[in-house]
Amino acid sequence: MKGKRFIIYGIVQGVGFRPFVKRLADELNISGSVCNHGPFVEIRAFGEKKALFAFEERLKLSKPERAVIEKMETSFFDSDRIPEKFIIDESLRTESGNNIFIPPDIAICDDCKKELFDKNNRRYLHPFINCTQCGPRLSILENLPYDRERTSMKYFKMCAVCESEYYDKSGRRFDAQPVCCKSCGPLVYLLDASGNKIISDGGAFTKARRIIKNGGVIAVKGIGGFHFVCDASSETAVEELRKRKHRPSKPFAVMMKDMDTVRRECTDISHEQEKLLEGPEKPIVLLERSDRGKLAESVAPGNPRTGVMLPYTPVHLLLFSYPDDVKDFPDVLVMTSGNISGAPICRTEEEAVIKLSGIADAFLSNDREILTRADDSVTDHFEGKPYMIRRSRGYAPLPVRVNSLRDDKCIAAFGGELKNTFCIGKGKLLYPSSYIGDLSDAHSTDVLNDTMERFIKMLDAVPRAACCDLHPAYLSVRAAENFAEERGIPLFKIQHHYAHILSCMAENDRKEPVIGLAFDGTGYGTDGSIWGGEILACDMLEFRRLGHITSFKLAGGDTAAREGWRAAYAMLKDAGMDCEAEVILGDVKDKLPVISAMLEKNVNCAISTSAGRLFDAVAALLGVKACSSFEGEAAMALQFAAERYLKGKGEVPSLKEICEDTGDIFKLLALQKLEGMDSCMLAYAFHEMLSDWAAENAYRAGVSEGMDTVALSGGCFQNTLFLKLVKEKIKKRGMKVLVHSMIPVNDGGIAPGQAYHAACKML
Ligand code: ZN
Ligand code: ZN
Ligand code: FE
Repeated sequence: MKGKRFIIYGIVQGVGFRPFVKRLADELNISGSVCNHGPFVEIRAFGEKKALFAFEERLKLSKPERAVIEKMETSFFDSDRIPEKFIIDESLRTESGNNIFIPPDIAICDDCKKELFDKNNRRYLHPFINCTQCGPRLSILENLPYDRERTSMKYFKMCAVCESEYYDKSGRRFDAQPVCCKSCGPLVYLLDASGNKIISDGGAFTKARRIIKNGGVIAVKGIGGFHFVCDASSETAVEELRKRKHRPSKPFAVMMKDMDTVRRECTDISHEQEKLLEGPEKPIVLLERSDRGKLAESVAPGNPRTGVMLPYTPVHLLLFSYPDDVKDFPDVLVMTSGNISGAPICRTEEEAVIKLSGIADAFLSNDREILTRADDSVTDHFEGKPYMIRRSRGYAPLPVRVNSLRDDKCIAAFGGELKNTFCIGKGKLLYPSSYIGDLSDAHSTDVLNDTMERFIKMLDAVPRAACCDLHPAYLSVRAAENFAEERGIPLFKIQHHYAHILSCMAENDRKEPVIGLAFDGTGYGTDGSIWGGEILACDMLEFRRLGHITSFKLAGGDTAAREGWRAAYAMLKDAGMDCEAEVILGDVKDKLPVISAMLEKNVNCAISTSAGRLFDAVAALLGVKACSSFEGEAAMALQFAAERYLKGKGEVPSLKEICEDTGDIFKLLALQKLEGMDSCMLAYAFHEMLSDWAAENAYRAGVSEGMDTVALSGGCFQNTLFLKLVKEKIKKRGMKVLVHSMIPVNDGGIAPGQAYHAACKML
């Protein structure tokens, strides 16, 4: 007797893959079994030759929407008997395999959505409805393989009806791990501002809706943590949230009731963007705001775009549409991470009540535990593809495959300090973590360490090396040092911008050397100064600094990062424009003498080649924005000014010339500004001139190094106008360009680069 064995690697856990295989086998009269091994799914199939052939074809073609088959190995084996039926084997755990896939959380599917609002369905208005196609995964997962007893659903014993659905092979809930209903599942309830339970179930929704309708703020427990929610169409409600959260202008994300609402509020929505909005990951998508919308201006002040997402859990849907007497409930809601600015999102109810009670009027919570935080992912678009800004819920921890890596390497990479994510490298796969946040205190470092341990357990990983940034004061570096010491493994410290380029190489599965253009905020350089506008020759093992933007002084430590006019003033002085500076920087004229003395005596000054600070300085110079209340605010304002010019005129300003260094660019802009040239036009001219400089210098570096490919990374490339210009200009010079897509260009993306380097170093 011969059977056919299929070993399938990929996203095949938690996406309804085993039930799908069973249905297919039954249909084709194939007997045998399917079994989840953690790293892979194994199928043993017996049947007629023709049927087996069709089986294999349809495994690939009609697999569940969320499943991804990375690799399928087939072989024949001998067996003494042919089984009568096709069965799903109970999960087995194979030892230390590679290619493990941890399923990410999945937004509610259309079928479940229909049932949720179907009066005749037994799960009518059930806030935890899910099926094999949708529902929480990573956020409730304790360990692999993905089965109910290893999730936080294990505390909820299935009722008889749910159990029968769980074992009914013809249904959508066959083998669906978090399956539950009103009588056996978790419960939604409302806590008042001090954490006392007021009301449960439907009443909780109605009360929460009334508070929001009346301009209040509710903290809502979602899939991966708590959100602050308020009416996004009410200027006073949004302003109130800003006041309570001490967040004057950083944009809030908005959840919109449905696609029609999105079309009313936003314009120029591409087909790809629409697909992303409605897809199973449901990230926040950056969209152009329309002028016929209801959104309050204070949602994203001065910003032509807004981060938009659609409801992705039954709780969200019920919040918008619970059938009660709350009339005219808003169809746009601010939905922003429930945390203290930049810190990790609150995961447990206890934590939320302690930390958020001064901000939220009430908590819409529930008794299903979140085990791993999953912030909303945020994505922009570039050349028809997603361009990730934050990669977390729905995506993390799906791995990046790097084929040049060897199977026996295992690395723990600790990432950067802001927007921290870490990465586990195991064999050829790099697993970027969900979003941790800014590492500012002991709590955020604890979150990093705890989540790291959880991932190591789930991935069955035994790290043989750790890696981190070079910065002596980073908490992520401290964490990595402790980790390496405890385990007695080597620690690699990797220069920040080199790590950015490595991460771009990893994402593009590139092992040959490249010229790296790292245009970034700040990172610690090998000479102890602050880098960030760097031209690097990179291979997997090392890098050389070939060039950089003109260095300038940052006076006043951290304050200089928020107040772009300080760098602008230093550059004006360098250009010999001391006197003109008073005119140009009129608003801060009184502060200039102090800064002047600091610069001259070199007191509390750092030397910097940060491109991020150059963007800030130009924003201050042009009067677009002198100070930032959040990272990148001034640079973004400069981009918007340039885009406004482009929209109106569309032609390249005539003052554009190729400057030998970026100090000349700055001086040229200053002179034009004095002559009274339009700020938006100059903002655009700056984008053109800086991209010319970058492309020309990358080209020269390529010629001298004998390389034909340039990798673009670093936070400044979040500016898609700048990215587009740099890419075009390099291509025009006959070189190839690597850009990011699914791994963020900002510091949230450096961990995979670190892991890639360390894995190669260990060869
Ligand atoms: Zn579903
Ligand atoms: Zn039930
Ligand atoms: Fe960076």
